Amino acid sequence: MRVTILGSGSEGNALLLESDATSIVVDAGLSHRKLVARLATLGRGTPNVSSVLITHGHTDHAAHASVYATRWGCPVRATAVTLKSLRLRSAVESHPFIVGRRFRVGDITVHSCAVPHDAPQVALVFETAFTKIGLVTDLGHVPKGLSRFLRGCDTLLLESNHDPEMLRMGPYPAVVKRRVASALGHLSNEQASDLLADLSHAPACVVLMHLSKTNNSVRLARSSAEAALGHQQTQLLIARQHEPMELPYVGAQQLQLGL
Ligand SMILES: [Zn+2]
Ligand SMILES: [Zn+2]
Repeated sequence: MRVTILGSGSEGNALLLESDATSIVVDAGLSHRKLVARLATLGRGTPNVSSVLITHGHTDHAAHASVYATRWGCPVRATAVTLKSLRLRSAVESHPFIVGRRFRVGDITVHSCAVPHDAPQVALVFETAFTKIGLVTDLGHVPKGLSRFLRGCDTLLLESNHDPEMLRMGPYPAVVKRRVASALGHLSNEQASDLLADLSHAPACVVLMHLSKTNNSVRLARSSAEAALGHQQTQLLIARQHEPMELPYVGAQQLQLGL
């Protein structure tokens, strides 16, 4: 599966997952124009998108869901409660999914698991015959069972939002600081590292996501995750807010080469 992160952070999130037969856009926090422009900087056009999948109703993940679905003539998938909060245009087809019950989009199987946030939110795993990719952002703490849910993922996209000390000392109003740090807020570098250390296997690739530009630094997030991963052979990458990033391709070809 090819994974392209178009943008990650509080100013807008979207990523593209492409198997041999299916393309899914996960989250719609970037304008359609921006998404197309970022793909173009990678020398790519927009693929034939099968579905737009929304993790939760916050604007930085969902603002452009109707536009995406209309442009690409595809349905929006999310939990029923999230779909309701999106207020999609009436012409847009919506397909609710039930948390914990897997479903398929083309040849990609999607698994979901509820995670704590101040809107109903899910962690997702995308699975094909060749690969398993986990996406976990916008959660205030790591719930019991999450590391089990992520078992076997060869690629893990994981929130590493803030450094607690930078958040405490930073310019945000007290009420916002409390929200970010709360059990329904965002995952700190330490919390992300604890989850990494808790995984029963090392993913081949970990991407740190949704970094706060005010309350975190690439250096702090990276060093925290590196310490948790130890000397394991994991490639560690940092997703950016304004620059797209293609992840190393994992698919049939790689699998065959490995045999
Ligand atoms: Zn977010
Ligand atoms: Zn959120």
